[in-house]
Amino acid sequence: MPKSKSKSAPSPVVPAFLAELLAARSPSGAEHEAQAVFDAHVKPSADRYAKDALGNRIATLNTAGDPVLLLAGHIDELGLQVSYVNKDGYIYFNTIGGHDRVMIPGRRVIISTQNGPVLGVTGKRAIHLMEDADRKKVPEIHEMWIDIGAKTKKEALARVRIGDVATYQPGFELLHGTVGVARAFDDKVGAYVVGEVLRRLVPKKKKLAAQLVAVATAQEEIGVRGATTAAYSVNPHLAVAVDVGHATDHPDCDQRKYGETTLGGGPIICRGPNINPFIYDRLVACAEKLGIPHQFEADPRPTGTDARAIQMGRGGVATGLVSIPLRYMHTPSELVDLADVELTVQLLVAFALSLKKGDNGHW
Ligand SMILES: [Zn+2]
Repeated sequence: MPKSKSKSAPSPVVPAFLAELLAARSPSGAEHEAQAVFDAHVKPSADRYAKDALGNRIATLNTAGDPVLLLAGHIDELGLQVSYVNKDGYIYFNTIGGHDRVMIPGRRVIISTQNGPVLGVTGKRAIHLMEDADRKKVPEIHEMWIDIGAKTKKEALARVRIGDVATYQPGFELLHGTVGVARAFDDKVGAYVVGEVLRRLVPKKKKLAAQLVAVATAQEEIGVRGATTAAYSVNPHLAVAVDVGHATDHPDCDQRKYGETTLGGGPIICRGPNINPFIYDRLVACAEKLGIPHQFEADPRPTGTDARAIQMGRGGVATGLVSIPLRYMHTPSELVDLADVELTVQLLVAFALSLKKGDNGHW
């Protein structure tokens, strides 16, 4: 893990494209707001731009280039979905994606409705009114509810429909230096990186042999579904998934189990059966050549990312995974160092430019 030789300290100013993605609410299957941000910032730079039936956004640069390189970052996030309203107007829900139930009660949530956002609260009985045993209990999903201040079922259903989705309210804030906190860095930072790589390659297009296809994938959190169809339709030779990875540098993470990765340590380059050796070697070579600090992760199984689906597309795709270190994944307060995000953009720009006609990762 080379120490910080980076020549390019990123600006503490948050790029508008990233800030808007972080503000967008986009639970899996309802990614409209994040799609609109990707459209606004990436479409103008693309030579070809497409949507598909799952809600992916597929931006291509250098359409006649060879090899075809797919970069995937998912635009969906965790959410809640309204499933039932009781006679008193309390709203019950199911979860979208992998929630820790401990995190759900006592939050402000925003329900996206056809008439705009509706603010609600995930209610819970006060500690004064609990028996000892209740205090140690984590409520089941069906024991929690959203309170929107409605008095009756009719009143609630006039504002919210069954099937509407919600997210936690908190948006992005800078915590200290370049470290920020947000509800859904996972994986807005990945979608930002793939779109930003395309934008930065526009002025370097003459030097780019590859056809670059930056995909903001939908529905990753519920089973890498957008990446599955995008890998088929794009039919790439090579691909890199860009997701967030666990920074294991906080007091409650056993590095004997989860390895050693730090916030601010640079992009995490994954190695294992889900990862093509050509891509791994090339990513490391590019990082070393540019002096980009980076770190490593070993994953002996199919990873929990879009890389899992893409690698198994059609006859197989040479796939890599670059992760941006993140603390407290799938909580309402995820931490990311924006310096790592910028370094990931730089690494993937260099990787794309390094590819030559005929590179296909076959071995
Ligand atoms: Zn996730």
